[in-house]
Amino acid sequence: MNTTTIHLRQLIGGTWADGAGVPQRSEDPADPAGVSVAEYSTATEEQLEQAMAAAGAAAQDWDRRGLLGRGQVLRRAAQLMEDRAEDLAVLMTREQGKSLADSRGEVGASIETLHYHAAAARRPDGATYPSGHPDEVVRTVRRPVGTVAVVTPWNFPLQIPVWKIAPALLWGNPVVWKPASDTPAMAVALAEILVEAGVPDGVLNLLLGPGHLGAALVGHPGTAAVTFTGSVPVGHSIRDAVIPRGAKLQMELGGHNAAVVLPDAHLPSAADAIVAAAMGSTGQKCTATRRIIAVGDCYDELVGELVGRVEALVVGRGADAGTALGPVVSAKARDQITAAVQQATDEGAEVLATAPVPDTPGHWVSPTLLAGTPELTICREEVFGPVTTLLRAADLDAAIELANGTDFGLTASVFTRDERVARRCVDELVAGLVKVNAPSTGSELHAPFGGLRDSSFPAPREQASDSAAEFFTVSKTAYLRLAPEDNS
Ligand code: NAD
Repeated sequence: MNTTTIHLRQLIGGTWADGAGVPQRSEDPADPAGVSVAEYSTATEEQLEQAMAAAGAAAQDWDRRGLLGRGQVLRRAAQLMEDRAEDLAVLMTREQGKSLADSRGEVGASIETLHYHAAAARRPDGATYPSGHPDEVVRTVRRPVGTVAVVTPWNFPLQIPVWKIAPALLWGNPVVWKPASDTPAMAVALAEILVEAGVPDGVLNLLLGPGHLGAALVGHPGTAAVTFTGSVPVGHSIRDAVIPRGAKLQMELGGHNAAVVLPDAHLPSAADAIVAAAMGSTGQKCTATRRIIAVGDCYDELVGELVGRVEALVVGRGADAGTALGPVVSAKARDQITAAVQQATDEGAEVLATAPVPDTPGHWVSPTLLAGTPELTICREEVFGPVTTLLRAADLDAAIELANGTDFGLTASVFTRDERVARRCVDELVAGLVKVNAPSTGSELHAPFGGLRDSSFPAPREQASDSAAEFFTVSKTAYLRLAPEDNS
């Protein structure tokens, strides 16, 4: 593996420039004392102004390139990403910590997403309506919304940016992107691919820096739309900055996802799905199962199925063969997760299972299965790591009430062989995605993705191309009437 430190720059108006702000470094979470993964200086607000001006200046030519021309650029980006897939996966594991298998999966999903939006360029892009005038056609026309601010988290450092940037570009918008501070090297790798694929100067601008740079970006009066993925508190502060000035906003935020297990479920496969969903990517997925609700008398048998699976999880360096769970992203994240587990046991939770962690330096957290009650803080607040809590419910009514008993509403899953129960759960679980006999994590990129309540914001969903078109454009209605013939 390449262990040299990468020097990163900002991308502003087509030029790679050093940040004029504060020096930073990103570290390998599995070897934090080792060689830095990347070093860079943060962008300043003056550089943000330059990026906004460059985006504005590049907008018209990019719009005139047309959907098919822009789709071609995305297709080339997909090809370049495929050519570099293994290097990208290795870099992702080094910078973010996830297992190489997870990184490879994320790179593959990002390639698919680029192809998917490239193909969307060939779909009908408007509707026609009858006119009362014989020489007239009435049709809708999609126009770019304007400069799009993109702010992204570190847990999917490639896939989430691609979800947002690919459709924003396809629909003719310039982008100013601020990625998470923990994964700047992945952001630069993606920006390099897009530039090499033919995204013109100024159409994609990348600003590396901390949260307050993101706040300045989303608050900038020149941004016509903001697409954000991250935590609920940051999302709420963005909403308060963006909505009053009338810009468009799309947000996907945290979750506290429940898995409801009925006594008629096939418990071994339910346990497989739940452990994968709770612990996969070291629990650092917004869709991870945070609460397991055992209904009726399946509790003890389910404990038996879950404990062995959690204890068998292999925690280690993401790059090592056999690793299921890498480290968590940072020392701060590790300390927060460890403190939350301690608080849960102080409040009365019982530790049912853990797995060993390496004794080398690294941001290790043992995957932890707790047994508890809904009043625990850990059952109400999102803890972004490999921790899940088993709860009891007397019957299906109680289970649904429990599952819905947080402020979140991202995903939920239910395990049962009874189709009536499954349908009722789909209707009544308050979650944007409800999975039956499947993990709470994972989604298809051609199906809409998004949460309810505090997990989201009412706006067109991410991923599916129809809702992407809806968010990244404004719609006009054109009345196209033939000019009268000149018979003089
Ligand atoms: P975060 O909210 O701390 O940061 C997200 C991004 O926002 C980063 O780029 C950060 O620098 C920036 N930021 C921080 N403060 C800001 C501010 N005041 N204004 C503008 N930008 C600001 O989240 P994180 O720790 O990077 O990611 C973890 C969170 O993201 C979890 O809550 C997780 O559930 C959520 N998440 C949600 C989804 C989803 O699709 N629902 C997907 C992935 C992650």
